[in-house]
Amino acid sequence: MALRLDTQIMYLKGVGPKLGDLFNRKGLKTLRDLFEFYPRAYEDQRAARNIASLKPDDIVSIKATVVAVHSINMGRSTRKMYDVVVKDASGQIHCKYFRVPYKGYFERFKPFTEVRVVGKVTEYRGRIEFHHPDIRDIEPDEETQDALIPLYTEIEGLATAKIQKLVRSAFAQIEEWPEEALPKWLLQKYELKSRKDALKEMHFPDPAKAAEYAEFKTAAQRRIIFEEFFWLELWLASRKAGFQKEGAPKIENAGHKLAALEKSLPYQLTGAQKKVFAQIKADLEKGHPMHRLVQGDVGSGKTLVSFMAALYAMESGFQSCLMAPTEILAEQHFKNAQKVLAPLGVRLGLLVGKTKASERKELLFELQSGEIDLIIGTHALIEDEVVFSNLGLAIIDEQHRFGVEQRGVLKNKGKSPHFLIMTATPIPRTLAMTVYGDLDVSIIDEMPPGRSPIQTRAIFDSKRPQALQFMLEQLQKGRQAYFVYPLVEESEKIDLKNAVSEFEKLQQQFPQVKFGLLHGKMKPAEKDEVMNQFRRHEIQVLVSTTVIEVGVDVPNANIMIIEHAERFGLSQLHQLRGRVGRGEHKSFCILIMGYAVSEEGKQRTEMMEKTSDGFKIAEFDLEMRGPGEFMGTRQSGLAGFKLANLVRDMAILQQAREAAFEVLKKDPKLSFQDNKGLREELLREHGPAALAGIA
Ligand code: ADP
Ligand code: MG
Repeated sequence: MALRLDTQIMYLKGVGPKLGDLFNRKGLKTLRDLFEFYPRAYEDQRAARNIASLKPDDIVSIKATVVAVHSINMGRSTRKMYDVVVKDASGQIHCKYFRVPYKGYFERFKPFTEVRVVGKVTEYRGRIEFHHPDIRDIEPDEETQDALIPLYTEIEGLATAKIQKLVRSAFAQIEEWPEEALPKWLLQKYELKSRKDALKEMHFPDPAKAAEYAEFKTAAQRRIIFEEFFWLELWLASRKAGFQKEGAPKIENAGHKLAALEKSLPYQLTGAQKKVFAQIKADLEKGHPMHRLVQGDVGSGKTLVSFMAALYAMESGFQSCLMAPTEILAEQHFKNAQKVLAPLGVRLGLLVGKTKASERKELLFELQSGEIDLIIGTHALIEDEVVFSNLGLAIIDEQHRFGVEQRGVLKNKGKSPHFLIMTATPIPRTLAMTVYGDLDVSIIDEMPPGRSPIQTRAIFDSKRPQALQFMLEQLQKGRQAYFVYPLVEESEKIDLKNAVSEFEKLQQQFPQVKFGLLHGKMKPAEKDEVMNQFRRHEIQVLVSTTVIEVGVDVPNANIMIIEHAERFGLSQLHQLRGRVGRGEHKSFCILIMGYAVSEEGKQRTEMMEKTSDGFKIAEFDLEMRGPGEFMGTRQSGLAGFKLANLVRDMAILQQAREAAFEVLKKDPKLSFQDNKGLREELLREHGPAALAGIA
């Protein structure tokens, strides 16, 4: 039979049902899947070296023996760091992994196993080591001198050489290659190889280009990466085009209320707040739905900007909703709104999980009959019973929780309402271009005046008494403090100081200080009470778990002490730190580390000491953890990349995005003959809905 791209791997000569099934179980069904099963690395056999001769930045292949594999716990999560120690006659070296390359990877490395380690030598704290090298068993029939060998992720018992043989035979047997999906002009403009050539070169690399392969810089790799990004970006571009076709409430008025709001504030809006609000206002006036992401570092004053938008909507007679990720935050927004918006006549509602049935019923009635202008709440807002009279604006104050698809949940509660999304912490540019790639982006790049930078120090547990002493001095000056612990009675096994017992100890040790305790297992009413006491300064030190992570705002608090800081993720640390430095007082953040701190934990706390720039921290965090972990969930669109890497391939992403938007600009309906393939691919990947924007 004639083999084509969509032929089952099973029908390949020398495969058959049994082997075919092995591939199947890895999600590889067709020859297309097989060709897109890209080598995870390439091994340059000529680069063989011994350990003693290694220098930083060398890309090498060494033959070595496994000494030991260590796994080290990281953070509060179940994540582990792995350290594979290998040696040869000349010395030994550590191979460190902050992520598990694939399931079962480390189980293969028993002591005394002979392995080949391929990777780039890194210098860390004056020592050389490997980060994420490829380690594989030495194969008996290895005689590929002078060659560049593709290394595949092993498929149960199928060695890398065997996989390459199959791919080779598939290339030889295939008779029908489909047309190139990318239009010619695009290939020319961005100097892209044909897909067929690129695929071939992925699997049969030219040894002369070993160094380029290792850096993912060959033309073949670039073509594949470009294409992966391009399809995502084209989809996002078509979504964006789709938004512009929908009608939405035209929100436009003289802005009397806004003027009154500005007058009532005890401070001036920052230039950045004005700039961003102007962008929002222009969107609201356009008559098609706004989909805008407002980014700004912790404390930059995003909430107020969203309030202004809600106020502006109200003056035109539209309702708004504001959805927050936690109850504490929703309540805080509500209290804030009562202070800032209620005096201007905005009728407010608060809907959270614990809202009593009777209250809830009344609230929902008022909402439906248009007696509420702004409803603030949690996920409770998206439930079916929540019906608006005329929702004009949906504000989502989020915490990396909603992806492209989830975002639409509120949409049907109005007639194409406007969307304003605020991120709790900055997100790296690459993610903004992918996960949020169909949104317009505004950045509040200026902090309210009078904020002095937060001084951050990471210390070991032994220095704790000094840290406490320092805290006492600040309390005497009338300040307040946070004391954060990673867990509440969640695990007896791990030696973590938990908030409850530490709270008791601290209170005993310092009877003159008023401590309060806040954790996730308390009843909502108790939590509220504690939070309010802290706000009213009846509590001086708030001992808590990470429930205070997002958005809590008490300007008089100027000290943040984080216990077991090494167990927190970077964006979490940054969020926590953002709870202080909100008033006129100089603020401090003390990160206390346990002695079992991992390398990665140390790097995180060092980063915190070095910078308070949320964007820099986010970039670093993304680099360390990879996009899936960074976003908290496996986001659609991100999980789909087979070769592309958001950190490494930023420049290509930028080009692919430009290209995608350019295509739709030139040919909004994708009706040119040359662009036919694009339309088909969109339809194939995302279904008919994807064509809404271009139909
Ligand atoms: P975030 O961007 O982290 O959500 P918030 O909206 O919570 O920040 O604002 C942080 C604090 O700054 C709040 O106390 C808010 O009242 C205050 N604030 C907002 N805008 C200004 C401003 N222009 N000048 C001074 N303080 C401001
Ligand atoms: Mg906020």
